[in-house]
Amino acid sequence: MNKDKAIDRRGFLKMGVQAGGGMLALSAIPLQLLADDKVTEDEALAQAMGYKLDASTVDTARFPKRAGDAGANQFCHNCTLFAGAADAEYGPCSIFQNRLVSGKGWCNAWVAKPA
Ligand code: SF4
Repeated sequence: MNKDKAIDRRGFLKMGVQAGGGMLALSAIPLQLLADDKVTEDEALAQAMGYKLDASTVDTARFPKRAGDAGANQFCHNCTLFAGAADAEYGPCSIFQNRLVSGKGWCNAWVAKPA
């Protein structure tokens, strides 16, 4: 009887290890997808928002918000909706459901990060 319980416990622990390994494998999938899920300029929302990977290429006639000296200092990396580090090449943006945008990019939803 005790031996059966010991086996049961051992079997339970094995199942736990296997389940843990499975969970690790499953949790790695979304991270991998997220790592490659960069917003592209040709997507409908990106086009509507004037998103550019390189902010210097923004059509300032269409998006005058980025015109002039003040506009020239607007980048995704200093936008309050950018969740990446200030020097990150890419980071999540809440406008794009936390998909990755370029730190040197810009879109018309830009809002200054609080100092
Ligand atoms: S909302 Fe901000 S971080 Fe997101 S794409 Fe526009 S400028 Fe970049």
